[in-house]
Amino acid sequence: MPNQACFRSPGVAHHLHLGSVMQAVIENLLKLQDTELQTRRKVPDRDAIVAELRGKIPEPILAHYDRLRARDKKGVALLRHNVCTECHMQVPIGVVLTLMQGKDIQLCSNCGRYLYLPKEESPSAEPPPVPPKPKRKKRNLTETADVQ
Ligand SMILES: [Zn+2]
Repeated sequence: MPNQACFRSPGVAHHLHLGSVMQAVIENLLKLQDTELQTRRKVPDRDAIVAELRGKIPEPILAHYDRLRARDKKGVALLRHNVCTECHMQVPIGVVLTLMQGKDIQLCSNCGRYLYLPKEESPSAEPPPVPPKPKRKKRNLTETADVQ
């Protein structure tokens, strides 16, 4: 089990540069997905946009994305209220925190999609979904994450 002890580290500034790069990659990936899901009729220059976005995304990331898309799935899932919106499984708090800090790209451990944390979480937009209860007892996620 990965150690989550470092999430309290205040060194956010330290990660800023890397974070913004990772953030840009995942944002491009989401844009790519949105564009690819459009029809050419709706977006006449779709192919050009797709080609441009693909040029900005690192190869291994594109490869994984394409594998997911080849299975007729989305490659990127939005993360809302700590839940992957594609498979509706709760995402470990360590993953959420990494995304919040923009430190790294994270995959949903259940469906394997790239997770994208939307910047503006509008609190009143929708009620938090009730995730299926995992086996272990609910732990207080707002406090220090307890690693069993
Ligand atoms: Zn998922």
